[in-house]
Amino acid sequence: ASASWADEVASPTGPPKTEEASLADAQVDGQVEPLGGSGLHDATYEVEVKLSDLQGDANSPLYSIQSFEELGINPEILKGIYSMNFKKPSKIQEKALPLLIRDPPTNMIAQSQSGTGKTAAFVITILSRLDYTKPEQPQALCLAPSRELARQIEGVVRSIGQFVNGLTIQAAVPGAVERGAKVKAMVVVGTPGTVMDLIKRRQFDTSQMKILCLDEADNMLDQQGLGDQCLRVKQMIPAVKQILLFSATFPEEVMRYAKQFSPSANSIELKRDELTVRGISQMYMDCPSDDGKYEILANLYGLMTIGSSIIFVKKRETADNISARLIGDGHQVVAVHGAFEGAERDSILEQFRTGQSKVLITTNVLARGIDVSSVSMVINYDIPMKGRSDSEPDAETYLHRIGRTGRFGRVGVSISFVFDRKSYVALQQIATHYGIDLIRLDTDDWDTTE
Ligand code: ADP
Repeated sequence: ASASWADEVASPTGPPKTEEASLADAQVDGQVEPLGGSGLHDATYEVEVKLSDLQGDANSPLYSIQSFEELGINPEILKGIYSMNFKKPSKIQEKALPLLIRDPPTNMIAQSQSGTGKTAAFVITILSRLDYTKPEQPQALCLAPSRELARQIEGVVRSIGQFVNGLTIQAAVPGAVERGAKVKAMVVVGTPGTVMDLIKRRQFDTSQMKILCLDEADNMLDQQGLGDQCLRVKQMIPAVKQILLFSATFPEEVMRYAKQFSPSANSIELKRDELTVRGISQMYMDCPSDDGKYEILANLYGLMTIGSSIIFVKKRETADNISARLIGDGHQVVAVHGAFEGAERDSILEQFRTGQSKVLITTNVLARGIDVSSVSMVINYDIPMKGRSDSEPDAETYLHRIGRTGRFGRVGVSISFVFDRKSYVALQQIATHYGIDLIRLDTDDWDTTE
């Protein structure tokens, strides 16, 4: 009984059935200290891992009795949905889809937790609104904050639309459209800067664009970031009939602007304390110093590779640095961030998706949207902070980062590293913001882990 939690999880008794099942078998004893609450108390924390049988949790936002058939959409789209093994609509799909596909088209602002099927909701909507007699005419535009997310959405359009006769899809991310070439597809999925350039250079005819969808909409509308570009794109598609904004987070100020951007929208909103995904166990570790975080991270490697893991850092240099150190220490990890060239970014993410690489070190560039169901652990090596000055904790980014695990009812673990008063307080503020308790993991008896 003297073994540490790390020891027990890393070497579950008996042969692992599958990677996920071995995590499920692990009983984790640890000190529980609710970060948002008052005082310390001891308790046993159990990592309960259920595989994707979601039927059990009546409170899971994923279930409803309704079926996709009831939507009355094109059977070719339905066939695509079923071929992806979507049996029933998730809560957000159930609630949003009837409103989304109704005529006349109405705008929508939709919020739902990470990994609950927002992408499929807007993809089904887009597919149900196209004029299939005009395959070369851009009719729907979906924008996302990173090339990786745009590519992933493009993949979902291709999958759900795989049986739809005449469907054409094109990505508009950096490097994807040759200079001078025309965008010739009904559905265009891209990043705002590239799309804006294509429209300005008259490579992209937006005269018949019917539907505009912003994924990660709060991020896309953020005045400090992509907001300007997205507004300009919107102004360049005057014929648009339906504007859809989707995200897991909508901070109040952004929501106000979102309502102007997408006027008279139907909306689905969540209360703050409903935002966190229940299946994600949120923990933190007290590290001796900023540099001391590395040792702790290296010790977690065994746990990280039970499933797949993502380590989030603030700076590109940190990503390079700790990946080099981990590799030097004999571990297998990959790193990716904005300084990497596009094709390389795509190939590293692909390796990670297929499980060829199980540990990915990255920056906020991949904090949002990326859907890799095998991700069972997310590590916040640095607590996410807002802006360059690091003055405030970034609660939204925290939620999106940890949302890379616990996808569609699966379980996952997130571990945030704190090492000084500032990082501790920042994490505490994030916990308070969402009304959650974070579980403290002890590192005391790690020396015996060997
Ligand atoms: P979000 O955009 O809300 O973060 P995604 O749309 O990426 O979530 O969905 C998360 C995962 O759940 C994806 O792998 C997706 O294929 C899957 N999924 C979506 N809708 C359903 C459904 N109705 N049934 C089963 N799986 C689904």
